[in-house]
Amino acid sequence: MGIEIRLLGGFSVSVDGEAVPARAWRLRKALGADAIVVRDELVTLATAATVDVDTFEAAVAAARTAGRSAELEAATGLFAGDLLPEDRYEAWTEPRRSLLREQFASVCLELAERHERRGRIGDALACAQRVLEGEPLHEPAHRFLMSCYARAGRRQDALQQFERLRAELRRRLEAKPDAVTRALYRSLLATSVADESTPRRLPVQLTTFVGREHELKEVGELLGSKRMLTLTGAGGTGKTRLAVAAAEAAASRFPDGTWFVDLGRLTDPALVGEEAATAVGIQVPAQRSSADALAQHLAHRTALLLLDTCEHVIDACAVLVEELLRRCPQLTVLATSREPLRCRGEHLWRVSGLCLPEAVELLAARASEAGPAFTLTDARAAPSTNATCSS
Ligand SMILES: [Mg+2]
Repeated sequence: MGIEIRLLGGFSVSVDGEAVPARAWRLRKALGADAIVVRDELVTLATAATVDVDTFEAAVAAARTAGRSAELEAATGLFAGDLLPEDRYEAWTEPRRSLLREQFASVCLELAERHERRGRIGDALACAQRVLEGEPLHEPAHRFLMSCYARAGRRQDALQQFERLRAELRRRLEAKPDAVTRALYRSLLATSVADESTPRRLPVQLTTFVGREHELKEVGELLGSKRMLTLTGAGGTGKTRLAVAAAEAAASRFPDGTWFVDLGRLTDPALVGEEAATAVGIQVPAQRSSADALAQHLAHRTALLLLDTCEHVIDACAVLVEELLRRCPQLTVLATSREPLRCRGEHLWRVSGLCLPEAVELLAARASEAGPAFTLTDARAAPSTNATCSS
């Protein structure tokens, strides 16, 4: 006999999947007289039962140990709402309710940070918003949203998030945001003008970014220590996608700009410098070379230049990169190429295809983006999908 007790989002009991009616206490009838023991005013179940609070807490602990987004996401899905909301003013429920809420909030925010690191800004914002649905005054969630908007270049949204918190606190508690939140707001105000002028010209991705957590972390770290990093690998392995996501995530470390130079359509190697200058948005004077003008423009800038698809104009790319790195000490170059550029200082990083679960996730994401009619069920995922992804 399976007994399931729900305490999150409202009290209910099910026996073998059948809900026991709320107002009629028929558990003794449903389970049989022996299943319930009343002793010293204490009602005890003689049969083991599943309690949703225990399931949620075990999932949170397991997700933290595994340290993976999928498990964290699954754990947040088990939080159906506040503990016993109908007993809101019962003193014994309050500490436990707060504790559970806080566990839910911290998992959501951890997930939000992971999404942001992977360049999934929409998912990151949605995760933090879930915290505010239950707790509209949760300041860490507000702070995350403010910072995330700011890092994504959405200054107005960042400032409005603070205004919303301020208004809500005033209305409900006649209180002000705490000191940390106010300091963040001040720093956003102070840097907002600089932020607005910080160029970040990376291609906007219209599809979701899948997997690659470790790769993003590694490439992100290398962008902090190497000045010339080339992502190599066979065609279609995801070099461009990974490079753009890594550049997006690292953009705040390059306050003077992050630019994407698309060399894929170029046929004349003599035009590599010009293409890069156009991407950076500078005018090249008639008497100067593009490389020279670019080097002068970037000479004192802490910036990131992403050269995408270098393999067919590889020698010209190598010459340009060497000149830029020599003359621009705070410049970092990230390149994608099927072949190494073989220029001085180049650090190679090989991109391999997505692992099988990520490939299946990518296929499912694309299918559901194409139309809601298709969802990848377990039955569909195996084994034909696996075969498609690994081939
Ligand atoms: Mg590419």
